[in-house]
Amino acid sequence: ARSRNTLEFRTMIGCIILRITALARSVCGISLMLAVSIFPTAALAQDTTDGIEMSFVLVEIFSALILLFSGVAIWIIARNQTRRIRELKREAEKLRDADFGEPLRVQPGELGELAAVFNDMRDKLKATTISRDYVDSILASMNDAIIVTGCDGKIKRVNKATSHMLGYEEHELIGMTVDFVVNTRKSGTLVDQKPSGVPREAFFESKFGESIPVSFTCSFLGGTEAETGDRIYAAQNITERRRAEKRIRYLARIDALTKIPNRMQFQHLLQRCIARARRGAKPLCIFYIDIDAFKEINDTFGHLAGDTTLETVAERLSAALPDDTIIGRLAGDEFAVILDGLGPDEHGQKKTDALAKRLLSRLADPFFVQGHEVFMTASLGIAYYPKDAPNVIDLIRNADAALYHAKKSGGNVYSYYEPAMNEAAVERLMTKSKLKRSFERDELLVHYQPKYNLETGEVFGAEALVRWELPERGMILPSDFIPIAEETNLIIEIGEWVLDKVCEDFRIWQRSVSSPGRVSVNLSLKQLRQPNFTRRISSILRSYEVSPTSLELEITETTLMENPERTIRLLDQLYALGLHLAIDDFGTGYSSLSALQQFPISTLKIDKSFVRHVSSNPDDATIVSTIVQMGRNLNMDVVAEGVESEDQLAFLQKLGCTYVQGLLFGDPMSSDSYLELLLAQAEGTDTHRALFA
Ligand code: C2E
Ligand code: MG
Ligand code: MG
Repeated sequence: ARSRNTLEFRTMIGCIILRITALARSVCGISLMLAVSIFPTAALAQDTTDGIEMSFVLVEIFSALILLFSGVAIWIIARNQTRRIRELKREAEKLRDADFGEPLRVQPGELGELAAVFNDMRDKLKATTISRDYVDSILASMNDAIIVTGCDGKIKRVNKATSHMLGYEEHELIGMTVDFVVNTRKSGTLVDQKPSGVPREAFFESKFGESIPVSFTCSFLGGTEAETGDRIYAAQNITERRRAEKRIRYLARIDALTKIPNRMQFQHLLQRCIARARRGAKPLCIFYIDIDAFKEINDTFGHLAGDTTLETVAERLSAALPDDTIIGRLAGDEFAVILDGLGPDEHGQKKTDALAKRLLSRLADPFFVQGHEVFMTASLGIAYYPKDAPNVIDLIRNADAALYHAKKSGGNVYSYYEPAMNEAAVERLMTKSKLKRSFERDELLVHYQPKYNLETGEVFGAEALVRWELPERGMILPSDFIPIAEETNLIIEIGEWVLDKVCEDFRIWQRSVSSPGRVSVNLSLKQLRQPNFTRRISSILRSYEVSPTSLELEITETTLMENPERTIRLLDQLYALGLHLAIDDFGTGYSSLSALQQFPISTLKIDKSFVRHVSSNPDDATIVSTIVQMGRNLNMDVVAEGVESEDQLAFLQKLGCTYVQGLLFGDPMSSDSYLELLLAQAEGTDTHRALFA
């Protein structure tokens, strides 16, 4: 375009010069004609010869003068025109060098018109150049690599980002085909691909041989092939994105903490193992492993210790099993293992037994976390393919049922799956819906277990224990349905109902006896977590006109330690109301006494598992006597639960324990029976006092 402009300009200048020469010529001609035609006529008017000669001389002088004047005039005009033409030439040269300067002065005349045309041209050229520079600077500042090729695939232009990405200078790429920068082994050729504008992925190859994953689009320049046939490639380096995707995929499959497959990946691997076993008509075995009381380790030593425990389990499993064994973490503290080729035949079962024992014993080795020695055990459920289940889901579910069975038998054991176990799971589900229905029909009961003062033998109060009576099954104990209720929010409703019932009964007892004693109610974690718990309790107490000092709330160690800071605040509120607070099942958790001392607790309840063997097992005797001692030092009441024999009673009496409760004094009783007991005591006709003598 620039050369075309210059050509046009030169042609124009040529035309102007020709026109000026023609003009000068006509001026000269006209002057001569005037001199000859006017002056000779005036001279011939004189009638002497001298006069005629003189006239000729004059004519010649005049002619010469006129010629001289004409020449000067022509010279001045020509000089002026030349100056303006030079000026135009100078401006044209500046324009050629993209220096737009100031517009030319526009004077009348043809050169003026030319200057106006020239100015117009200058303005247009200036606008075009500015927009071209603008596009250039946009291209240069783009992060995407831009490559423009002709229809033959040869590179015509690239931007800075392309050089930056590939390490080539622009001149090294111009004229090469676009495939020169493509890793055609991995991506195929780009030259043959039809531009579609749709993003695709490919690998470019840098000057240094590095393969760079890119996402690119290829379109025709100007939108259609018809316009120029040129193509524009816009490519983006996606190395980072690829890396992030890889990480996400890894995280989706591998458990971040233990670096072993997670549930999804484990199921996927199990699926493959089952398919292989099916093809080879071989069995396989899975172990489902769960840490016993993991929550307590977490609660007591903190989540960091919990994490260390899980890592330890994963390490111990890998160390104890053959190298190619697949180990997965299926959930919180649940692990599973695939043992290829292990079957339920006699030899296989022997091997399974040995392996399960070895794993449990390895897992039970104590270990240290933050200077604390942690004792951990695990339970294990075993299921075989194809004997116990033909597919992934059922095999895992059945191993889980066996695990549940192992847990129920106290932990630190392994169980083989049996069909009856699944029936237990179904039964559990049925129980859940039946319980809800019974609760809604008001079919739950509250029984009371009296607590006795060890020194005087008097009834000091009672513990309220919920009961569920089913016509076809008789009385169901809380241990069989409270855990089920705790899986849902039903426990909150049941808990609140128990509180309400206790207060209702208390009001009735109060009408007959002056002091019905202190009644304790068990609380579940879910109840404590309710935001308006304190308000609910005080409103129940108010509506039955029961003094808060008559009520004691039993909270287990584990529940207390679940969120200690929040619990302390809540218990302080309850304590401020006048309620008594007791730690239930003391000794079964991991809490240190200094941790428990933060809570406004007035009673320790020794768990019945220690009381049971107190007169036969020296360890249990030491535990119980230590707790009693500790309670006394801290000015707390100590209640021993589960007293079944006179030996236990005597032992506890000797230790100086404050209160006892247990089957020795009969089963937990109805509200009416408890009132009768209180009345008999007031009359002095109660039968148990002799036991304490
Ligand atoms: P817990 O609070 O430790 O209650 C004491 C349990 O020991 C009661 O079992 C009681 O019947 C039983 N027991 C009492 N004396 C003896 C004895 O001499 N020998 C034996 N072997 N057991 C004895 P129960 O009623 O089955 O309650 C079990 C657990 O259920 C309770 O343990 C408590 O944690 C929970 N529970 C009971 N009622 C409620 C309730 O209303 N709400 C909540 N959240 N939990 C409750
Ligand atoms: Mg209790
Ligand atoms: Mg208890």
